Amino acid sequence: MLENKEITTDKLKTAIKTAIALEKMYRDKKALQEKAGKKKKKTVPADDSVKNIDPKKVHRVGDSLDLSKYEVADCCKPLPGDEVIGFKELNMDKLIIHKAICPTANALNSTQKRLIVPLKWTATNDFLSRAFIVVEGVDSKGILLKMLHVISDEMNVNMISLNITTQSGIFKGEIGLYIKDLTSLNTLLSKVMGVYGVISVHRKSSTI
Ligand SMILES: [Zn+2]
Repeated sequence: MLENKEITTDKLKTAIKTAIALEKMYRDKKALQEKAGKKKKKTVPADDSVKNIDPKKVHRVGDSLDLSKYEVADCCKPLPGDEVIGFKELNMDKLIIHKAICPTANALNSTQKRLIVPLKWTATNDFLSRAFIVVEGVDSKGILLKMLHVISDEMNVNMISLNITTQSGIFKGEIGLYIKDLTSLNTLLSKVMGVYGVISVHRKSSTI
């Protein structure tokens, strides 16, 4: 009986030791994650004030897109990573993000009553932008399925729309996507290009 009790106590001691070690491991890991999170936040701080913006300075959009301060222009559908500019109507506290090469933005550029602000928009944590790609390929059996597999399963990207036309054995497709940034889009484009039978694929530059 006594022997058994001692074994139980030893077992209990070992269990407690293990629990303490696990708890410590968990706390260390959590602290490390928190530290990493804080560090990441520090690297891309947002310039908060859109109200008193200085058009001579590059304005950083920050890690998350505050929709009360920013609007992504529908004409050119810029992505984080693109060369972008911000347009601010003088009576608004909001910046509209356009691609620097956007024809609409450049047309607006010549009119008055707007501030044009150089922007730096490199990362988003929780905002997905819309982008469209145009793909051409040989109209062979299963090619569409392979392409969709690459987009949905391999890249884990959600599709908004899909438009396919076929002529003389060549298909042309326009696919709408929700995408994180320019890097993700470029990875997706090269993966789609890698599908056997695809002749060309590019980002649709503008809907105008
Ligand atoms: Zn635009």
